[in-house]
Amino acid sequence: MSKEYETVIGLEVHVELATKTKIFCGCSTAFGAEPNAHTCPVCTGMPGSLPVLNKQVVEYAMAVGLATNCDITRHCKFDRKNYFYPDNPQNYQISQLYLPICRNGYVEIETGKLSENQKNALKGKNGSEITENTEVKRKKVGIHEIHMEEDAGKLVHDDWGEVSLVDYNRSGVPLIEIVSEPDMRSAEEVIAYLEKLRMIIQYLGASDCKLQEGSMRADVNLSVRAVGSTEFGTRTEMKNLNSFTSITHAIEGERNRQIDILESGGKVIQETRRWDDTKFESYAMRSKEDAQDYRYFPDPDLLPVDIADEWIEKVKAAQPEFREAKIERYKQEYQIPDYDIELITSSKRMADIFEEASGICGQPKKVSNWLMVETMRLLKEKSMDPDQIRFSPANLAKLIELVDSKVINNSTAKEVFEVMFDNDTDPAKYVEEHGMKQENDEGAVKAICEKVIAENPQSVADYKGGKDKAIGFLVGQVMKAAKGKADPGTANKILKELLS
Ligand code: ADP
Ligand code: MG
Ligand code: ZN
Repeated sequence: MSKEYETVIGLEVHVELATKTKIFCGCSTAFGAEPNAHTCPVCTGMPGSLPVLNKQVVEYAMAVGLATNCDITRHCKFDRKNYFYPDNPQNYQISQLYLPICRNGYVEIETGKLSENQKNALKGKNGSEITENTEVKRKKVGIHEIHMEEDAGKLVHDDWGEVSLVDYNRSGVPLIEIVSEPDMRSAEEVIAYLEKLRMIIQYLGASDCKLQEGSMRADVNLSVRAVGSTEFGTRTEMKNLNSFTSITHAIEGERNRQIDILESGGKVIQETRRWDDTKFESYAMRSKEDAQDYRYFPDPDLLPVDIADEWIEKVKAAQPEFREAKIERYKQEYQIPDYDIELITSSKRMADIFEEASGICGQPKKVSNWLMVETMRLLKEKSMDPDQIRFSPANLAKLIELVDSKVINNSTAKEVFEVMFDNDTDPAKYVEEHGMKQENDEGAVKAICEKVIAENPQSVADYKGGKDKAIGFLVGQVMKAAKGKADPGTANKILKELLS
């Protein structure tokens, strides 16, 4: 009889911070430049160059720490982690070992209600640990520490195995590493935790946290133990999993591998493993025995950072309203369904647009509809994130007012919106310039209706013979004749009057 096992998981999450410049020099952090375009003596490790700490990095780290209930270390400092690798020109990484900037925090996660990401992750392989469950469970996941460090450069290997090139543009890009306690027990909890972190950090504007693009990277530490046991088992670490799906698969695969070892009387070895999501298995990279000794020591080139209470207060005061608080306030302030609220608050950018546009036009449900339907459709079609939305709340409100005051009808509004979505065009001007105004003169619409009736005797006969649907066809003909600029409601009304 095999025992029941519990999975124990702790995460190390690296997040690239959205600063304009690198952590210890003034080089740009912009992505996509020519290789080595954004480099200087500091971030290429030239002898004699000296690092200067970027204040914004400290503020972002503090902001994330405060939002995750951490204590801020008033006297924190940087240490050198020594190792040789060609993407690391200094032969050490500046990080924080002894006195990380944040410690002892937690985030609260919710499970039981599957998010879109969890559902998608489930689609591929059978995630045995995720079950559809309607009861929402809340739990705290401890955060051991958050520290600041610099990213390494990037090696590019040619296809023939002869040449390796190095690009130092990423060298010195600021990172925070968020180390959790081993508090998670399933893939579902892990994804809920990552989503929670991502939401907090995105709301802070500290990073865009994209797993696929590497601005958020998760290392999964996992062990199993018999249910009821109070001691942790030996863990393995799986590095750099870059999607919720591969995280879910890796957890399932590694849990099963460890249980098989224990069931056959073996011992799990503490090691780093790489998960191959195409083969659905992991393989060992290096064990703890050949782990390097990094010979950490305090970096003599950087002063310790002393953080005064006033500075912490300043960062605290600048914190945004986070998602949970926003959801509660929306429920009080706006008459819109909970479903809308969930979707709108899933991005701070979208929530900001919603609030401002609703404030201007006073029609929250209509604003919400434009965001949930047309905006979501176009974002998906153009593979964009809500953060990249370009239209202004003022123009969205204007568009809604144009429809309300019958200057344009709904289908024209959709056309105008597509243009506005790309260029934040002023909808009123655009409608004016392109002669898109609706024909509100009932006399003019009536004339078109009469013409349509004369030209479509069969539909008229159908309608009169009791086929109510025929009116729809006639309205369509009127709209066509009016080049889309009639109000379908008015056309419908006039047609019925004429035919009765
Ligand atoms: P190291 O110093 O070797 O990196 P840490 O104590 O910093 O180890 O832990 C690294 C990560 O591993 C943390 O996120 C922690 O929660 C997790 N972890 C530690 N022990 C276990 C365990 N037995 N099972 C699962 N995860 C663990
Ligand atoms: Mg570690
Ligand atoms: Zn530089």
